[in-house]
Amino acid sequence: MGKITGFLEYQRLEEAAEAPESRRKHWHEFVVHLTDEQAAVQGARCMDCGIPFCNNGCPVNNIIPDFNDLVYRQDWKTALDVLHSTNNFPEFTGRVCPAPCEAACTLNINNDPVGIKSIEHAIIDKGWAEGWVVPQPPAKKTGKAVAIVGSGPAGLAAAQQLARAGHEVTVFEKNDRMGGLLRYGIPDFKMEKSHIDRRVAQMQAEGVTFRTGVRVGKLGGAKTSDFSKETVEAGQLIAEFDAVVLAGGAEMPRDLQVPGRELRGVHYAMEFLPQQNKVVAGDKIRGQILATGKHVVVIGGGDTGSDCVGTSNRHGAASVAQFELLPQPPAQENKELTWPYWPVKLRTSSSHEEGVARDWAVTTKRFNDDGKGNVRSLTAARIDWQKDPMTGQMKMVEVPGSEFDLPADLVLLAMGFVSPAAAVLEAFGIDKDTRGNARAATEGKDGYRTSVEKVFAAGDMRRGQSLVVWAIREGRQCARAVDEYLMGDSTLPR
Ligand SMILES: Cc1cc2nc3c(=O)[nH]c(=O)nc-3n(C[C@H](O)[C@H](O)[C@H](O)COP(=O)(O)OP(=O)(O)OC[C@H]3O[C@@H](n4cnc5c(N)ncnc54)[C@H](O)[C@@H]3O)c2cc1C
Ligand code: SF4
Repeated sequence: MGKITGFLEYQRLEEAAEAPESRRKHWHEFVVHLTDEQAAVQGARCMDCGIPFCNNGCPVNNIIPDFNDLVYRQDWKTALDVLHSTNNFPEFTGRVCPAPCEAACTLNINNDPVGIKSIEHAIIDKGWAEGWVVPQPPAKKTGKAVAIVGSGPAGLAAAQQLARAGHEVTVFEKNDRMGGLLRYGIPDFKMEKSHIDRRVAQMQAEGVTFRTGVRVGKLGGAKTSDFSKETVEAGQLIAEFDAVVLAGGAEMPRDLQVPGRELRGVHYAMEFLPQQNKVVAGDKIRGQILATGKHVVVIGGGDTGSDCVGTSNRHGAASVAQFELLPQPPAQENKELTWPYWPVKLRTSSSHEEGVARDWAVTTKRFNDDGKGNVRSLTAARIDWQKDPMTGQMKMVEVPGSEFDLPADLVLLAMGFVSPAAAVLEAFGIDKDTRGNARAATEGKDGYRTSVEKVFAAGDMRRGQSLVVWAIREGRQCARAVDEYLMGDSTLPR
């Protein structure tokens, strides 16, 4: 523990960010990592409280008190080693993780939590800047070949771990660039894509082969990004590889089947966001969905909805509104009831700060036409959440007479994802769980194994729509399960 009285002496410091007015004019990241001195002070706030709840709150179990202390002492290189021992890609989580670790921090009970995410961000950015992040090719090869379907954080983490264990790893990705939702979901202003390219180069030097534009199995029906030019049959992968990891994400978006859904101008968020990321990458998109000069309504209050808000504002939308079905949560949680768990409370993202009219407990009833097949407005109503006396469950009741119309030239549906695209699971003939995900446990000798011999599953494809940090955890754990399957035992960490 660095400074015994640090938590009494120092306040939490948020990372500096460019002002909303100016950052709305570009697509770059606008959050600046802490300076060395600032990070040392923030690290000194860690109480090394004995039972590090933060370590358990973090899905990859980052060894947080240790790197806090190392940063306090300015031993950055060892801090980087500690961070990499549990997390393959801290530059992703240091930017986009919602930081459940901080909710679990003991200091969070009666003070502001340690700025763990900002310290993680500072460590990995310094690591790259100093040239400390280098390829780690295996000392010897095993002669076993593993195919990974999908290059999101789960697929990439599995690929890196398995390559370092000496296996011949090939990643198949239907899109034209690697990264999954890091590449074509999360906008550049939250995470620039050079971070992915840098990791992909590192992994290539470690022996991973990347094949872009190759879809495994048939098109899944989901209206999401698919830039594939080639198809590989599931049977071919099973025949040619010793193990296959399915890490294809949860690509089926939740729909809103109300009258007018078919009108032009009503889109899934994942029809809108990938196009802009491609444009930022230098691609030309014919007929790009643009929010410029339009009244935009985003339906759905999560990360995806927030990214639609930020993107619409950067396009120069005339107005941006966002609806959420649930009531507005409290500004502050009751920590005695929620700590160390993730609390329900009002969260204002950086995109919200840039301008949006948020509205809660609203249901959308229909989309209205301009007479030419384009959406012109929507009709919504207020709802009341009431407890059903019979079942005890909360149910939605429309408030009589609360209907209202809102101008809408562009409606973005951001209501989450219901499951993976079924086609790829069916191509492999694996069992699905009740939600349509690949069925596989995480613990025990069958961990991450599907119902089909040598086929494993990890990330959103197995657990359903989740977070980058959970995908990294699953990729790492799945890699260990595959290594054990191929070699009988494994030295890869779980
Ligand atoms: C808009 C948006 C914003 C988000 N923001 C955040 C955030 O800020 N923080 C956070 O923690 N999480 C965020 N998430 C969630 C997070 O991105 C996902 O939980 C995470 O990326 C899942 O990782 P994954 O590797 O399981 O799958 P994905 O990232 O979905 O990657 C799956 C990959 O598999 C490929 N694939 C699928 N099927 C095939 C096939 N048949 N053949 C070949 N390739 C295939 C897909 O093209 C895709 O590239 C966001 C999600 C969205 C949609
Ligand atoms: S990965 Fe997320 S939960 Fe884990 S330490 Fe970093 S910010 Fe916290």
